[in-house]
Amino acid sequence: FDNRPGDIWYDGGLVPWSDATMHVLSHGLHYASCVFEGERAYGGEIFKLQEHTERLIESARLLDFEIPYSVEEINEACRLTLAKQGFRDAYIRPVAWRGSEMMAVAAQHSKIHLAIAVWEWPSYFDPEQRLKGLKLDLAEWRRPDPRTIPCKAKAAGLYMICTLSKHAAERKNCADALMLDWRGQVAECTGANVFFIKDGEIHTPDPDCFLDGITRRTVIDLARARGIVVNERAIMPEELAGMEECFITGTAAEVTPVASIADWTFQPGEMTKTLMNDYMAAVQPGAAVAAA
Ligand code: PMP
Repeated sequence: FDNRPGDIWYDGGLVPWSDATMHVLSHGLHYASCVFEGERAYGGEIFKLQEHTERLIESARLLDFEIPYSVEEINEACRLTLAKQGFRDAYIRPVAWRGSEMMAVAAQHSKIHLAIAVWEWPSYFDPEQRLKGLKLDLAEWRRPDPRTIPCKAKAAGLYMICTLSKHAAERKNCADALMLDWRGQVAECTGANVFFIKDGEIHTPDPDCFLDGITRRTVIDLARARGIVVNERAIMPEELAGMEECFITGTAAEVTPVASIADWTFQPGEMTKTLMNDYMAAVQPGAAVAAA
C-alpha cells in the first residue's frame, strides 16, 4: 500500500503517495493516540462527509487531542484528495495522530498530524449474489466496558480486538465475527453494526459500548421511513435462535445479509433486500436521504 501512484493529503497539502511517511517514534504508533475515519464516495461525492468529519474531530477530542483543522477545512481536504486521485467510487481514509516530539505516555505538546488517503473502491452491487449471505463466527473477544475505554471514539487502539477477532474468524473460513460486549450482550462485528429481523420488526443492539455507525443510523431512518418498527435494545445471544433475518451495516459493508453466525442460521429475505436497495439509492449523489 505504500507505493502507489497519486497523492496523499498530509498536514496541509498534497504530497506524492510514497512520501507520506511518519517517524517510528510517533506517539500514535507506540501509545495508540490515533483516530481515523472510513468514508466512501459514490459517483464522485463523499456520502455523509459532514458526519464523518465531525466524528473524526470528536474521536480526537475523546483521546484528548485537537485536530488543528476545522470541519470545513477537513471536508475540503477530503474532496480535494478525491478529485486529485480522480476516482468516482472510492474509499477515503482520514487519519490523525500524535507525532514524535515526546516519547512518553504523557505527550500533551506533541504535534497533531492529519493525513487523508483515497483509493479506488468500485461500487459493485449484485443483490442476488449478496442475498446468499455471509458466514460469521462468534468472537472470543468482547467489546469492553465503556468505563475502561472511550468507546465512542473511532480510535486505532480499539481495533486491536477487531483484528484479533477477524483473523480468528478467517481461520475458520468465516467472513467476519460477531462480538459480544463485556456483559455478554450482542454488540457488533469487527467493522460493521448488526441488525436482526423477527415478525416484521427490526432489532439491533443499543450502541452503548460500541460505534453507533453512520450507516446504522441511516438504515434505521430508512426503515422507519417505510414504517418498519426498529427496536434498539439489549439482545442476548440466546435470542438469535428466533431471529429470521440478519444483516450488517457499515461504510464498507453497506447493507450485507448474513446467512449464519456460528450455529445460528438466518434466511436473508424481502426486508433485508428492501433495505439494501433503499441504502444503495440513498448513497447516490443528490439522493434525498432520510436525515441521519
Ligand atoms: N463498528 C465498527 C467497529 C466499525 O469499524 C465500523 C466502520 N466504521 C462500524 C461499526 C460502522 O460504522 P459506519 O457505518 O459509520 O461506517
